[in-house]
Amino acid sequence: MSNLVKMKHRKADLIGLNSNVYFQKQPNLLDKRAALVLNADYRPLSYLPLSVWPWQDAIKAKFLDRVSVIAEYDDTVHSPSISIKIPSVVVLRDYIRPSRSSAFTRFNLFLRDEFSCQYCGKKGEMTFDHVMPKCRGGKTTWENVVAACSSCNLRKGSRDLKSSGMKVLKKPTKPSVEVLMNKGRKFPPNYLHESWMDFLYWDAELES
Ligand SMILES: [Zn+2]
Repeated sequence: MSNLVKMKHRKADLIGLNSNVYFQKQPNLLDKRAALVLNADYRPLSYLPLSVWPWQDAIKAKFLDRVSVIAEYDDTVHSPSISIKIPSVVVLRDYIRPSRSSAFTRFNLFLRDEFSCQYCGKKGEMTFDHVMPKCRGGKTTWENVVAACSSCNLRKGSRDLKSSGMKVLKKPTKPSVEVLMNKGRKFPPNYLHESWMDFLYWDAELES
């Protein structure tokens, strides 16, 4: 079985939800002949979304000498004077230092909770819930907001944990950038070129 096929099986196991709901942001990567972009340490710049450039950007960066090309598609683009193979993996010449703090965004919060309800564990379409409701002084912070399915959200209403009799499966905390990055690895996009596999999901390959 090819790595790509293996990965697709693996992906279905890992996600356990309708990935189309969340991952339509990178459609047609194949059509775009996207290049996987690695930091100077050969790790992807980001996992979710996976750091990719359209081929035009990859070729431009190559000519500006900002990247080295380490794998190519079979396809070639032509200009009047030259023809060049489309890069499938590029690595930045200069290391980009990753941000130290996780941005408090809706998406990152869902990612921290792995798109699963923090009350019942169900996966799928999520809403947000303030553990201590806003109307009781609860803040909108990493420590007080969790992903919740709509039925748990409705059931809890504007009550606090104690009076609702509900429990959070895991105490919500601010995740480190590294934790988010690792969680992002569990949600690969729909298209992965085989040349990307050497730089992605090593652990998934080992386990399969
Ligand atoms: Zn629930």
